[in-house]
Amino acid sequence: MRPTLLGIPYDAASSYLRGAANGPAAIRAALHSPSTNGWSEDVRNVVDQLHDAGDVDLTLGDVRAAIDQAAHHLFAGGARVIALGGDHSVTYPLVRAVSRTLGSAHFSVLHLDAHPDLYPEYEGDRYSHACPFARIMEDKLTHRLVQVGIRCMNEVQRQQAEVHGVDVIDMRAWASGVRPAMRGPIYLSLDLDVFDPGFAPGVAHREPGGLAPRDVIRLIQELEGPLIGADVVELNPVRDTLEITAPLAAKLVKEIAAKMLEDTPTS
Ligand code: MN
Ligand code: MN
Repeated sequence: MRPTLLGIPYDAASSYLRGAANGPAAIRAALHSPSTNGWSEDVRNVVDQLHDAGDVDLTLGDVRAAIDQAAHHLFAGGARVIALGGDHSVTYPLVRAVSRTLGSAHFSVLHLDAHPDLYPEYEGDRYSHACPFARIMEDKLTHRLVQVGIRCMNEVQRQQAEVHGVDVIDMRAWASGVRPAMRGPIYLSLDLDVFDPGFAPGVAHREPGGLAPRDVIRLIQELEGPLIGADVVELNPVRDTLEITAPLAAKLVKEIAAKMLEDTPTS
């Protein structure tokens, strides 16, 4: 099944700076920029094979219900969705949609982020971008959550990780060589602040000491399970004054799409 883009221009759950609502447009522009081509590193013209389902209509009713419905419609039709954020709050309804389609026992979630996003609530908001993985685990939407790149753990979230059995590979563990061991279908949630801000300044929360682009590209290329869905979130074009982060996000979309196409016949 072809990878399908779904834009989610939403940033009202951001705790520090708005701007991520303009992420989908910036990623699409970088994907189609004549500064590069549409090919992934395994030599597939992935941009030609990408469907684009447009943006979720967020003007009517409940935002999370709208995201869940739009994503569920695509997943249920067999598409492999690559959602473009938007702030990280969008991952809760996206994973809900995957879970409604496949069943929570049949996929795991790989979460790349500087932050664990496991707060029970943040500044009074249970649906803040600091909380989606707490909601996902409480609702038992997946049987396994593996977090990579974490470097902002605090005591509240450490306890949450323990309660919910989250597998945390923080930056110290990563630096000493620990890598995720995952098999079976995987949903990838990629917060761009997982990168060192030197590589990806176009995010609200710049946290030093992060991953390099090659680390993440290699991680995607070497995933063992089929990649059934993904999101690339937290691109904030206002902070991306040198246009470094949008091309990185687009590159990741291409590598994600290539991984999705790997086990698809006639690609
Ligand atoms: Mn996040
Ligand atoms: Mn983050």
